[in-house]
Amino acid sequence: MRLGITPQISKANCEVCEEVITQPVCPACLEREMIEWLVQKEKDEDKAGLIDFIKKTTISLRGHGYAQTKCVICGKNMRVCAHCYCKEILDYINKEYPELEEEFITHFDFNIHFKPRMI
Ligand SMILES: [Zn+2]
Ligand SMILES: [Zn+2]
Repeated sequence: MRLGITPQISKANCEVCEEVITQPVCPACLEREMIEWLVQKEKDEDKAGLIDFIKKTTISLRGHGYAQTKCVICGKNMRVCAHCYCKEILDYINKEYPELEEEFITHFDFNIHFKPRMI
């Protein structure tokens, strides 16, 4: 039941995991935090690819559209919960920047639930 958005789903639920958004911080605000974190890090390994991926993810997850939960930081509507957004980024970090994984989880611990993908 991933495809086909049913009208029964509450508008307060995340579009990806369909769970109620309990930590309403939108992808755009998370993106800012993540990039700040990456820029501040002392090790200057190449993070351009990751920053690029984070930006693309924000755009693609913003493009979805029916949830009406407001972000506690910027007050804009958000459609995808922090868990799902962080999970996307984490998947990428796992593959491309495994050395950052532990620190990422420490900084962005939204109790990311590792649900297997349904696809
Ligand atoms: Zn979600
Ligand atoms: Zn926000």
